[in-house]
Amino acid sequence: MTFDELGLDEQILNAISYMGFEKASPIQELAIPHIMQGRDLIACAQTGTGKTAAFMLPVLHHLVRNPHHGTSTLVIVPTRELAIQIEQQIQGFAYFAPVSSIAVYGGGSGNEWESQKKGLEGEADIIVATPGKLLSHINMGNVKFKNLRYLILDEADRMLDMGFYDDIKRILDVLPKKKQTLMFSATMPPKMRELAKAHLINPAEVSIAISKPSEGVLQAAYLVNDNHKTELIHHLIKDKPSFESIIIFSSTKKDVNGIVRSLKAKGHKVEGISSDLEQKEREEVLNRFRARQTRIIVATDVLARGIDIKDINLVINYNVPNDAEDYVPQNRKDELRADATGVALTLINEKEMRQFSSIEKLIGSEIRKLNIPAEIGISPEWKTGRVAQKSENNKHRSGKFRHKKKYSGDRGKASKG
Ligand code: ADP
Ligand code: MG
Repeated sequence: MTFDELGLDEQILNAISYMGFEKASPIQELAIPHIMQGRDLIACAQTGTGKTAAFMLPVLHHLVRNPHHGTSTLVIVPTRELAIQIEQQIQGFAYFAPVSSIAVYGGGSGNEWESQKKGLEGEADIIVATPGKLLSHINMGNVKFKNLRYLILDEADRMLDMGFYDDIKRILDVLPKKKQTLMFSATMPPKMRELAKAHLINPAEVSIAISKPSEGVLQAAYLVNDNHKTELIHHLIKDKPSFESIIIFSSTKKDVNGIVRSLKAKGHKVEGISSDLEQKEREEVLNRFRARQTRIIVATDVLARGIDIKDINLVINYNVPNDAEDYVPQNRKDELRADATGVALTLINEKEMRQFSSIEKLIGSEIRKLNIPAEIGISPEWKTGRVAQKSENNKHRSGKFRHKKKYSGDRGKASKG
């Protein structure tokens, strides 16, 4: 869905297209309509799914459309780093809109207190604050919240983990009762539900379930150079009769053919599925696989997507999927359902480490990395240093967005070119 279709104001659309956002992320698609309608909201989604824009864009839309004065919006966040980062994102989103913002956080020099105090007295439209520092300012009488309309608790689970429950309660006590409250979080612990129950009014709830990989699925990754990949596969399936059904995914047709050839040469019952085959032939291959006449199928990512096969014992990603959504198992629920047991292995070469690391961030868990057996060769060393660096350089672009691929494609109407 484009942001245009979500009905956002032109000024906001211009800013986000300038920032390189093309399509709304899933959590944005789910959350924005509720917020536009004025409802309280609880939204859960993993880190890196675009939650800031999910709450900020519709709030900015309202601020642009409805004249107001004084501080209208308060965003409470757990850390100084997040306060700074989110306030910067807001400046980006509000680039063409007459909206002011300020970050309020502790831990800096005394100068910061003064400049934050000034900003607060100037009644910035949007305040992004950590709980402790905000309370100090409230206690000193530096903040006026009587015109507050929007309250956002970002990373709510983290704030509770960090022991901010009482601080948040105290802040909530001084805020006007009539306002729209949005709670964003990666998870939904009981304490958060309690807080929501006490302070949100008939909230809508949305969540994106990409968090936990299936419990019964053992996941691991091999660090392996391309020239050792085929031999590693032979090694992995040799003498393992318990792996009755095996799927190997590869991103290119050429690799599919190569893998099939080499497995055949070793005497395995194997068939390939790629665009070389007619639709009907593909069906036949899949049917033989389902009937366990074929032990191994090798398929390109694209053609294999969504195929429904039960009880696969081993999935091998011959390459790191380009699209994080294709990573086994959470997005291949058909093949490896939540109750499935099995093994999912990904082969990672040096060039793919960064991509794999962003998949790990997206699914919120770190996958165990293994070296290839010494008799095959030496594994490249696990390195992802470039990730951190790149994110830093791309604060305002979509470079940090782990979902980027998924939203590329058709540039919306909002694009200024
Ligand atoms: P979260 O709060 O869920 O961890 P963020 O809101 O910080 O995620 O967003 C992560 C990154 O994705 C940011 O760099 C942001 O600019 C980018 N981003 C957010 N939404 C989109 C989108 N629709 N298209 C492209 N990039 C996006
Ligand atoms: Mg966030």
